[in-house]
Amino acid sequence: AQARIGLIGLGTMGAALALNIAEKGFPIAVWNRTTAVTRAFAAGAGALAERIVPTETLADLVAAIAPPRAIILMVPAGQAVDDQLAALAPLLDADDLVIDAGNADFHDTSRRNAAGLPFRFLGMGVSGGEEGARHGPAIMGGGDVADWARVADVMTAIAARAEDGTPCAARMGDAGAGHFVKMVHNGIEYADMQMIAEVYGLLRDGMGLDAAAISRTFAAWNEGALKSYLIEISAIVTAAADPHTGRPMVDMILDRAGQKGTGRWTAIEAQHLSAPIPVIEAAVMARNVSARLDERLAGQALFGPAPQPCALAPDTLELALIAGKILCYAQGFAMIRAASERFGWTLDLPEIARVWRAGCIIRSAMLNDMAAALAADPSRNLIMAPFFADLIETAMPALRQVVSQGAAAGHALPALASGLMWFDGMRTGRGTANLIQAQRDFFGAHGFQRIDGLDDPHGPWAGTV
Ligand code: NDP
Repeated sequence: AQARIGLIGLGTMGAALALNIAEKGFPIAVWNRTTAVTRAFAAGAGALAERIVPTETLADLVAAIAPPRAIILMVPAGQAVDDQLAALAPLLDADDLVIDAGNADFHDTSRRNAAGLPFRFLGMGVSGGEEGARHGPAIMGGGDVADWARVADVMTAIAARAEDGTPCAARMGDAGAGHFVKMVHNGIEYADMQMIAEVYGLLRDGMGLDAAAISRTFAAWNEGALKSYLIEISAIVTAAADPHTGRPMVDMILDRAGQKGTGRWTAIEAQHLSAPIPVIEAAVMARNVSARLDERLAGQALFGPAPQPCALAPDTLELALIAGKILCYAQGFAMIRAASERFGWTLDLPEIARVWRAGCIIRSAMLNDMAAALAADPSRNLIMAPFFADLIETAMPALRQVVSQGAAAGHALPALASGLMWFDGMRTGRGTANLIQAQRDFFGAHGFQRIDGLDDPHGPWAGTV
C-alpha cells in the first residue's frame, strides 16, 4: 500500500515529526537530501519502521505516496524551501499538496502561494522543539480550507492535547497566516523568557539568592497562576549542577543569548502594522545587548557595576511577573488582530489561544483564561476583559514596585519596564501627543485637530522663528 503522506528533510524536527506520524498509524514515505541520513533514520526507527518508507530519490518519494499526495517539507527556511518546491514541481500533479512546516517568514509563504505553484500549498507553523515534534507539537496551519481539511486528520492526530482533550492543531487562515501566528508565538516566547530572566536577575543580584533557592522559587510559582512550561524548565535548569565543576550549571553559562530571528521578525512586522508590542521589542533588544559582552564589560569598567542589592518579596516578584505576562500576551494578541485586519485573514483569536495551550514553548495555564476572555469579545484588548482587568488591578502595584525599586537599584529590566510604560500609556486619556502635533504643525504644517472640534487646524506660529 502507498504511504498516506510524505516528508522531506530528516533533520531534528523532520525525523521527530515522521516518527510521530508513523506512531499515530499513518504510513509515511521519507526523503532526505543526504541519503545516509535517510538510511540511518529508517534503521533507527524500531517497530515504527514498518510504517516508514525510506526513499532515495524525489521521484521515488512521490511514487511512494497515495495520490492526491501530501508532502511535508521540514528544511531550513528560505532558499532551501524555494529549491525544494522547484525540484518537486515537475514531479507533482496539480492536486498534490506541499506543506512547508519550517519556520518560514510568513511573507515568503504568502509570496510562494501567490506565485502560482503548480500544486496545492500550505504554510504550517510547528512549535514545541524536537520533543514537541516527536510527541505532540502545537500546529498552526495556513492555506485553503479544503487543503487543510485533507491533512487535518494527520495533524490533529500528531498534535499535543490540551487538558480538555482538544488537539492543538488548527487552520489559522489563508497561506501565510499559520507562519504569522507561529512568528508571534515566538515573539511572545522571547518576551516571556526575558521577563523570567529579569526576575531571575533580581533574585540573584538584588536579593543574593543562590541557584538552588531560585529554583525552589520558580518551582513554587509553577504551582500558581504562572504555571507554564517556561517557569517549569526555569526551575529545572536552575537546579542542575555542572558536571565539570559541581557548581550550578546556570552559573557556568555565558550571559550571551542566541537567536534565530523570529523574535526580530515579530518586532519588525509590528512596526509595519503600527501594533505596539514593546515587551517583545524589549526582549529582542535585550538579546542584542546580551550579545555585546565585550562592550558591557567595558561599560561596567567605566561606570561601575549596575545591579545593587534590592529587597523585594518573592510574592511581589511573582505578581509582577503575572502582570508582565498578561501585558505581553495582550500586546501579542492585539498584533495578531491588527494583522488579521490588514491582511483580511479573519484570524480566530480564541482558537489561537487554545492551540497554544499545549505542545508549544509558551504553553501555560493562563492561556485557558485568555481563550475564554477572547471568546467573550475578540475585538477587545485582553487587558480590558473583566477577568484580566481584575488580575491586573491586583498585580500592577507589584509590577510598579518591582520596576521602580529595581531601576533605583540599577537593574536592567527592559521588558518589565516597557510593559509598565505601555500600560500607563493605555490608561492615559489625555496624553502628551498634543505637543507632538504642535511641533509637527510648526515645522511641517501637518495640521492638528482641536479638542473643541473647531475647524482651525493650524497654530498661530507663522513667522515666530
Ligand atoms: P536541521 O538542521 O536539524 O535539519 C535540516 C534538514 O533540512 C536536514 O534534513 C537537511 O538535510 C535538510 N536540508 C538543509 N538544507 C537543505 C537544502 N538546501 N535542500 C534540501 N534539504 C536541505 O533543522 P531543524 O530540523 O531544526 O529545522 C527544520 C525547520 O524547522 C527549520 O525551518 C526550523 O526553523 C524549523 N523549526 C525548528 C525547531 C527546532 O526546535 N529545531 C522548532 C520549530 C521549527 P541534510 O541531512 O542533507 O543536511
